[in-house]
Amino acid sequence: MFVKGKEAIRMYFYCEDCKKEYPLNTHSYKCDCGGMFRLHKDANEAVAKHAISLGEFVTPLVPFQVGKLDFLLKMEHLLPTGSFKDRGACGMINALHDLGIKKIALDSSGNAGASMAAYAAAADMECTVYTPDDISQEKVKQIEAYGAKIVKVANGRMKACAAVKQNLGDAYYASHVYNPLFFEGIKSMAHELYDQLGHHVPDYIFMPVGNGTMLIGLFLGFMEIGRLPHFVAVQSSKCAPLYEAYHEVPASPKRTTIAEGIRITKPKRLKEMVKAIRDSGGDVITVPDKDILKAQKYLSHRGIYVEMTSAAALAGAVQFFENGKPDNYKVVIPLTGNGLKR
Ligand SMILES: [Zn+2]
Repeated sequence: MFVKGKEAIRMYFYCEDCKKEYPLNTHSYKCDCGGMFRLHKDANEAVAKHAISLGEFVTPLVPFQVGKLDFLLKMEHLLPTGSFKDRGACGMINALHDLGIKKIALDSSGNAGASMAAYAAAADMECTVYTPDDISQEKVKQIEAYGAKIVKVANGRMKACAAVKQNLGDAYYASHVYNPLFFEGIKSMAHELYDQLGHHVPDYIFMPVGNGTMLIGLFLGFMEIGRLPHFVAVQSSKCAPLYEAYHEVPASPKRTTIAEGIRITKPKRLKEMVKAIRDSGGDVITVPDKDILKAQKYLSHRGIYVEMTSAAALAGAVQFFENGKPDNYKVVIPLTGNGLKR
């Protein structure tokens, strides 16, 4: 867990709207009033060594050139299960393990499911993952290989979310969207970047955004550091609810994109995501699927094999800086997931 012994008691969830408090082992996943949970944690609470580990490491930051544009790729796809979600899963499973929780369920479009299934296996927890019925076969195989049970739900990601909530039984809802413990784990990426850049915050971070796990996690992490990079959220032009909310444009019909990690039609933490982008002086942009494909090919022909969702961020950065970028800007692109999964 993040703290040891008695100090852990000081951590609890509270409602973002009415401030009502809930213990970490609550079987509620949001407040009775409908508000989302946030995590209360004293500032002096240090991150303790994780009891449950799959060999997490500081992911490399690799310089990468596209024409005249230079970027820094954060190689998150090299983490134990092949995605950045391992950070959140490691944080949350360690916390749940300390609370004595033995049975969890969650919904996922794939990567979070694989991360949670792996860390749950390491902690000897029973795990059930609800997924849309059209996720890649590789992701299904990976989740099942860790010993988790898969429940496939027809008609998309939002239906999988509804299904798990209806069928929780005695399982703890270990959601990477509702549960703030997951974001707590993602924060480590912000601290790593700060260290890797010699105690500097990057100027820009481009990231694919679906449910906003990375965006909110990085926002919280850089808030601890005391300075925010400009966050640029990249969405597919076929499914862009954050783009529409941020730019206050009318919602258009959501269609299926090749970037399956960001096929999220109704993100639960939309308000928080908009705030993170605003506070950072960032932006939300969309890219067409053809540019995502092109970016994935560009990366793979240079030896970097990532999933389409990761390539969307590179496509976004190239589009954003199409008229050039100042040489001294440090622009980080986290590669969210391994290409072997799709
Ligand atoms: Zn409330």
